[in-house]
Amino acid sequence: MIRIVTLAPYDAADLAWLGKTLYTAFGLGTEIAGERRPPASAELPGGRTDAEKLVQAAGAPRVVADDKILFLAAADLALPPGPLGEPPAWGFSQQGGERAVVSTRRLPARGSTEASVEAWRRRLARECIHFIGHLWELHHCYDPRCAMHPSWSPDLAPIPDAALCNFCREKSERKIRLAKT
Ligand SMILES: [Zn+2]
Ligand SMILES: [Zn+2]
Repeated sequence: MIRIVTLAPYDAADLAWLGKTLYTAFGLGTEIAGERRPPASAELPGGRTDAEKLVQAAGAPRVVADDKILFLAAADLALPPGPLGEPPAWGFSQQGGERAVVSTRRLPARGSTEASVEAWRRRLARECIHFIGHLWELHHCYDPRCAMHPSWSPDLAPIPDAALCNFCREKSERKIRLAKT
């Protein structure tokens, strides 16, 4: 089960669409677990949010067994700088762990036309699949159509597919099966 905890207000129809898409990607049910207040302890001076602290400190329902928690936030997420400086953060995931966050901040404007809402939903779902994939120990994928392709890649389609390639899909299925036994 994937439990989605929102840290900002989102449209119920958008969340329902996301749940369906995550079910298609992973074969796991999704629960919309309600909205919580973002944890103050993750706030950085200047209004940004420490992504690692946020996933540690944010309130969430109690999980059982192989449940995963996905936080949806609107915050400007900060990651620790690497050798090339700070990577742009669409989200953060405890690789192989329980909790991940995706921020809607870098997404294209949702707008109100059918086409712009569809583009927004697909990009959101792609990022959610990506960071949940890391929870199942998936690594980045070379296929630009795969949700495990890096979020910052210039090869991403403007309206990307919200799905895993066959290789990543099979790997996630194996990991999910193992976690259940
Ligand atoms: Zn990644
Ligand atoms: Zn892949």
